[in-house]
Amino acid sequence: GKPRVVIIGGGAGGATAARYIAKDSNGAIDVTLIEPSRVYFSCFFSNLYLGGLKAIDEIGHTYGDLAANYGINVIHDWAIGVDRADKTVTLAGGSVLPYDKLILAPGIDFVEGSVAGWDISAQNRMPHAYKAGSQSELLRAQIEAMPQGGVYAMVAPPNPFRCPPGPYERISMVAHVLKTTNPAAKIIIADPKPKFSKMALFEEGWAHHYPGMIDWIGEEFGGGLVSVDPDRMTLTIDGDELDVDACNVIPAMKAGRIAELAGVTDGNWAPVNAIDMSSKVDPDVYVLGDASQQGDMPKSGFSANSQAKVCANAVRGALTGSRVFPPRYANTCWSLIAVNDGVKVGATYEATEEKIARVDGFISQTGESGETRQTTYEESESWYAAISADMFH
Ligand code: FAD
Repeated sequence: GKPRVVIIGGGAGGATAARYIAKDSNGAIDVTLIEPSRVYFSCFFSNLYLGGLKAIDEIGHTYGDLAANYGINVIHDWAIGVDRADKTVTLAGGSVLPYDKLILAPGIDFVEGSVAGWDISAQNRMPHAYKAGSQSELLRAQIEAMPQGGVYAMVAPPNPFRCPPGPYERISMVAHVLKTTNPAAKIIIADPKPKFSKMALFEEGWAHHYPGMIDWIGEEFGGGLVSVDPDRMTLTIDGDELDVDACNVIPAMKAGRIAELAGVTDGNWAPVNAIDMSSKVDPDVYVLGDASQQGDMPKSGFSANSQAKVCANAVRGALTGSRVFPPRYANTCWSLIAVNDGVKVGATYEATEEKIARVDGFISQTGESGETRQTTYEESESWYAAISADMFH
């Protein structure tokens, strides 16, 4: 029969890989995509939803086109086990799927105990909103329900994590909402890092658009020095307890649990070969996107999409003998600081023996004109439309 590829996770990495393998092999490869959700809400642009600039439907994507246009077998279920000796995947529903090549793109899960006082059972009181959808809607409702002059808090994550500028774009969008609905409100960020992505750009933008509203407390405090109490709605930093009205806890991250169950992680992440995203421990298993440990690329949707195309080309080559091109990787992360005030950072990368290595890059400058910033924002809108199509249509 035909060679079989099973892909676990229908997000940025997995959907792209499925689409490219199926599209470019014209039916020569049997492609199965396993994803529990019928609608994928992208984390990318979920901050714009929080800021009231996008509707939730605008960041939701379905899988019908992948099935109809490319013949991908989309199964809405959880993968609960991988047997690498037998080369099978077990689903929660009980099915066992054989594979010749397995692609893991499960995104992230949270490291238990990384924020004292918080665990996943507290995610309704203190949402992470770091997987988009109902968590994003909940956080937005909590922002809207804050009393006048109330306190919004964020516990930011340690490196490495999904979307390095994501927490700070989120703060910008929360401030954008509060500026009109609740101008006396305060925003506090407890950050375990001494600095963060595009820091100078965010700090300039916050001082300009939201003067006096945002207090970033960043330092190398260990887990012990920041804690939350979701029942009492308090945040404690270095012994100072503070009442908070909304609290976004973004814990430390690791590869999605199925990567651990498949035995391809090394601690928290899954090490891969830069040439094709294959696992360092199994040449028939590939790991894409946030779950992988590949080197210099940030964990982003753009990166996951870029990695998926390299992987798809390599997998097709291995299974059908089609031509394999040298890998090329790229990323850009846009962030919105206020309406039409967009900034970006990006780079290109190459595969070395050791890792995916940065070649060169670019970043927005402080003091840029409003026109430049608007153009940057418009670029991000075009990017979102194009990359969504490249993943799901
Ligand atoms: P995901 O897209 O999370 O997909 C993983 C999928 O796997 C999920 O759909 C999940 O349901 C599924 N899955 C997990 N476990 C299983 C299992 N056992 N069985 C079956 N399926 C499973 N990136 C950008 O490029 N640009 C941005 O502007 C941007 N903004 C962001 C803003 C925020 C607030 C956040 C949180 C992230 C942002 N990102 C952005 C990052 C981007 O969302 C992630 O890097 C990207 O989604 C990673 O893709 P992935 O395929 O690794 O994981």
